[in-house]
Amino acid sequence: MTLEIFREDAYARQCESTVTAVDSRGIQLNQTVFYPNGGGQPGDTGSFVLPDGSEIAFVDTIKDRDSGEHIHCVANETDLSRLQVGTTGTAKIDWDRRYRLMRMHSCLHMLCAVIPASVTGGSIQEQRGRLDFNLPDTVDKEKVTADLNQLIASNTAMSMQWITDEELDANPGLVRTLSAPPPRGSGRVRLVNFEGIDLQPCGGTHVAATAEIGKVRVQKIEKKGKMNRRVIVVFDDEAPV
Ligand SMILES: [Zn+2]
Repeated sequence: MTLEIFREDAYARQCESTVTAVDSRGIQLNQTVFYPNGGGQPGDTGSFVLPDGSEIAFVDTIKDRDSGEHIHCVANETDLSRLQVGTTGTAKIDWDRRYRLMRMHSCLHMLCAVIPASVTGGSIQEQRGRLDFNLPDTVDKEKVTADLNQLIASNTAMSMQWITDEELDANPGLVRTLSAPPPRGSGRVRLVNFEGIDLQPCGGTHVAATAEIGKVRVQKIEKKGKMNRRVIVVFDDEAPV
């Protein structure tokens, strides 16, 4: 299996890697800083820099549905002619894009704290994020914006801890996002803790402290059914989408 450097260190921008497999979609690496699409967070993009300095673009990172292996996807098959098992290079993510995704992802943890209802869906993009809540009533847009920015400004540190599948089973209340259950099978689950704000199992990438998220605002709250409120958050420094 690929060593997932991003799980322990979300700030790692590049690493030295060796190609371990090649298929028509792209390549697998012995270790990587590329987050694969999952849990509402898109896969990383970036490049593989070969020893001669030339670069091959990775346009997406996915997890193979059957094997669970990370595939670093290339734009077209001709890129693969220069890659074979044993090829070494530097795997380098598009950091600006990833950092915005990390900030927005972390912001959705704040949103989980502000709205104490179960989450039925969600997605993260560079400019905006959304969560769907199992809620009969609407929530006040301005109040949620103010509460979010207060948590962000508190600059609370993020920490991670690992628990066993059995410990998670004994504490079902930890699972907030019903649509994206924590990955199981490895025998342990990672908990992401913004101390005093939000604690839940999550496999995504997060900022080290909440102030890094920056100012945000609730752009829209949509009614998507009798028991569903969709809350859309944007960075306050971005132009309205
Ligand atoms: Zn998370």
